[in-house]
Amino acid sequence: MLSDSVGVLKGVGEVKRKALSSMGIDTVGDLLFTVPRAYEDRTKLFGIAEAFSLPYPVCIKATVGTRPKKAILPGRRHVTKCRIFDDWDGAELIFFNRPYVDRQLEMGKEYVFFGRVTVFGSSYQLVNPEFEAVGKGKISGKILPVYHLTEGISRNFMTDIVAKALDRENFIEDFMPSDVLKHYGLISLDSAVRSVHFPQSAEDAKKASARLSFNELTVYSAALSQIKSNLKAGSAPKMKVISLNPFLEKLSFALTGAQKRTINEIFGDMYSGIPMNRLVQGDVGSGKTVVAAAAVYLSFLNGYQSSVIAPTELLAIQHFGYMSKILSPLGAKIELLVGSTTKKEKERIKQSLKSGEIDVLIGTHALLQDDVEFKNAALFVVDEQHRFGVAQREKFGKRGTESHTLVMSATPIPRTLNLIIYGELDVSLIDELPPGRQKIETYAVDESYDQRLFAFIRKQADQKGQVYIVCPLALENEESDLLSAEAYSEKLKKVFPDLKVAMLHGKLKAAEKQAIMASFKSGETDILVSTTVIEVGVDVPNATLMIVRNAERFGLSQLHQLRGRVGRGPRQSYCILVSHSKTPRLKIMEKTDNGFEIAQEDLKIRGPGDFFGLAQHGLPRYSGIVNTADMETIKKAFDFSEKLIKSDPKLEKAENLWLSQRVSALRTKIGSAPLN
Ligand code: ADP
Ligand code: MG
Repeated sequence: MLSDSVGVLKGVGEVKRKALSSMGIDTVGDLLFTVPRAYEDRTKLFGIAEAFSLPYPVCIKATVGTRPKKAILPGRRHVTKCRIFDDWDGAELIFFNRPYVDRQLEMGKEYVFFGRVTVFGSSYQLVNPEFEAVGKGKISGKILPVYHLTEGISRNFMTDIVAKALDRENFIEDFMPSDVLKHYGLISLDSAVRSVHFPQSAEDAKKASARLSFNELTVYSAALSQIKSNLKAGSAPKMKVISLNPFLEKLSFALTGAQKRTINEIFGDMYSGIPMNRLVQGDVGSGKTVVAAAAVYLSFLNGYQSSVIAPTELLAIQHFGYMSKILSPLGAKIELLVGSTTKKEKERIKQSLKSGEIDVLIGTHALLQDDVEFKNAALFVVDEQHRFGVAQREKFGKRGTESHTLVMSATPIPRTLNLIIYGELDVSLIDELPPGRQKIETYAVDESYDQRLFAFIRKQADQKGQVYIVCPLALENEESDLLSAEAYSEKLKKVFPDLKVAMLHGKLKAAEKQAIMASFKSGETDILVSTTVIEVGVDVPNATLMIVRNAERFGLSQLHQLRGRVGRGPRQSYCILVSHSKTPRLKIMEKTDNGFEIAQEDLKIRGPGDFFGLAQHGLPRYSGIVNTADMETIKKAFDFSEKLIKSDPKLEKAENLWLSQRVSALRTKIGSAPLN
């Protein structure tokens, strides 16, 4: 039975049982549902040169060409060497500490070796491979699973007990109705579990993992729907209808249609008395801040407090400036609370927040601390939410049932992924940029472009445009050959003695960062060499050139965010992506400036798990499967669970018992996260 302890398997004694338990494996079922993290495809045979071009071990078919020679090295280590060859190439075969290997290899006979071909001097070499005679099929001819392991649990042991467990279970019963499987083209649970461990082909492994991800995603999606309906069951201040005209008069521009629509959706939520939990998604520069400011204005006119939280101090300060400019003249009292605010000042702010003197508090996660108490908070705005960690997100969540929450994100992603990551939120899309924006001319170049780069910087400076340069590293580091902001800013100071070059990175003190940013914003600094601290939200309309060094190190969506720092004013802006090799994926950046398209390309290249970064989102963190799931399976699972919830919102029907049980188990497992 799946619920039996793994101790029933032959070879699993007390010590092994404990080691397995530390991996989260207590029962036979746990073991069988612990899926391999990868596979070794040993079904294909490669030539020596072909194998050399691959960064992982493969099977190589070659003939032993010389008699193996054994020698003893200092420290009593054995080394055995001989030459092997195939139709095209030769290689040196080397074994360390395999004293009998010379007797196992016969000159003139053909073998299959499993290993990685490297190069030493001018010769290929193959060190300590596994091997067998051609056609034997013990180490080759199949696909072998690779598991996450722990001390005391070797790969062979793991493979062995999984095989034993599969032998023991005659048939793993399916909980998914068979018509559902048929509809979505999924295999049975029994065959999925069997072939996820020991697939016959890569195609098999894919089908198996799709089926298992489908299970998890269905449960996950149903859990999100429940959380969402719980949120809606709460109550939050019901706002009275206001006129937005005084607010609009303070703006120097007219709102775009998409901004108007989004504001209407937000106001609709806030008029309803049901807690708003809304995500505003809009490409870089689409004007999300003003939308948030409108929501704050509504809350303010209704006599409630609001808070706005940003992921970095720079951004919090910028929001503070922006909101103050619009809302202070309208009578709102606004304060800033960040990590570097002095203790005395913090005390004062906390006091006046509690007494209700402050209408709007803007800050970083410093304002999530428990002793920051509001008198009557009704609105909670979170900017660039994807940058917050899990723990912080859970803190936002606590407020989700009693106040209105507005989340803003600049990473435009397909609807299906929205469901996974923000499944508990309603979504408004700002799919229109303010008028008059020019396309940012983008060039992906290699390092041979360096000299011309300087000429380009000079040209921008002559026209009084400012320049951002982003480096992957803050300070010089001997262990890395990446360019640091420190080194590059020194170089630029020499190249441009008449220009003001400044450096910005996360390790500086908050006050220093602020001063540097202020100087860039005012136009005093011409060139800002920085790390990705400027990635999110920073708004300096006079900046016309963005240069990213070692661009190959960044994801496409991240590059798009960086590029969005320029082109915020009326002038033509440029983005130059410098990489040491011409990386084809960077060419996508030249072609499109549509964040949505870029995200989709990024997703294709990296897959959903990597794209979002497990830790950052935290949502699907309970499972490896969700993170490696392909888009198609994600779509199927959400489609299925949506239909199911529609017909049985509380999962009370007997035929849905399997799901409701799993949903409760999952919700216990992930705590009350993300919201609720
Ligand atoms: P993001 O969506 O990236 O947060 P911001 O809110 O920082 O964008 O807005 C980018 C710039 O566009 C700001 O300078 C802002 O004042 C300006 N802006 C916003 N909405 C409009 C609009 N409707 N027309 C013209 N400019 C706008
Ligand atoms: Mg922004």
